[in-house]
Amino acid sequence: MAKAIFERVAVIGAGTMGNGIVQTFATFGSQVVMVDLDEKALERGRAAIAKSLARFVSKGTMAQADADAALARVSTSTRLADAASVGLVVEAVAERVDVKRRVFTELDGVCSSDTILSSNTSSISITTLAAATKRADRVAGMHFMNPVPLMKLVEIVRGQESSDTTIARIVEATRALDKEPVEVNDYPGFVSNRILMPMINEAVYCLMEGVATREAIDTVMKLGMNHPMGPLTLADLIGLDVCLDILEVLHRDLGDSKYRPCPLLRRMVAAGRLGRKSGKGFYDYA
Ligand code: NAD
Repeated sequence: MAKAIFERVAVIGAGTMGNGIVQTFATFGSQVVMVDLDEKALERGRAAIAKSLARFVSKGTMAQADADAALARVSTSTRLADAASVGLVVEAVAERVDVKRRVFTELDGVCSSDTILSSNTSSISITTLAAATKRADRVAGMHFMNPVPLMKLVEIVRGQESSDTTIARIVEATRALDKEPVEVNDYPGFVSNRILMPMINEAVYCLMEGVATREAIDTVMKLGMNHPMGPLTLADLIGLDVCLDILEVLHRDLGDSKYRPCPLLRRMVAAGRLGRKSGKGFYDYA
């Protein structure tokens, strides 16, 4: 197994993505501190990591001792100050520019001057986040895919001021996690969500307009386009609130009405139907 490039890493946000990112770095040998404002989110995050590692063990793809060692490398905290001495931070808090900018400013104040600050944002400008710090050259996007322990791709986003050294280090760190880095430039939604979210949004319009049932829409895309899962199932996996937030960024920052979020998606989010994480989305997960 490859060895992690960063001995110590901090991941901010213990949600769907945060806990997967923590697990991945810990599996490859980093000491990882998982930071969240919410103590309950940290407990859920740690439980999700333990469950996912146990699944690797039961499938025979990981030894029990390696899973135990990975879990032992994870610590948790509710204080950003505990990220002070790490080599790399991966921010994975809510997809809101104001929230992320506050986190970046605070991290810039507490972290050592050579710490690289990265964001797992799906769509928000890396340049805008970097501008909330005094180290814009040491800020970049590190966009992992869901579920992180299984998915190979990491979209590496070069902000306006990201230095070549910063990009080279996170590319190297990505390869050391046995993942494939792909470099892209800083435009709303980058490549992945610029293409994926309009497809998901259109699937929701198809459902709202009664073009077909949820199962029919998903089956057409699965069997007809050879997608591993249909767009409504995928939206439930991503989180409907996250999908809506990403569409809002595409709509606002690209200024094109083709990105307007479907009213049914808004209604689902308003009702608290967020997908798998809330137990109900387009499908039920009770
Ligand atoms: P989530 O809602 O599951 O988790 C977010 C976590 O951040 C919560 O536990 C929350 O308590 C915590 N948080 C919020 N503000 C905080 C703060 N100021 N300090 C510390 N913790 C804070 O969200 P998620 O789905 O894990 O998404 C996180 C990021 O990853 C977003 O930027 C999202 O766009 C991106 N992303 C999501 C997916 C996906 O499939 N869900 C895929 C790729 C990237």
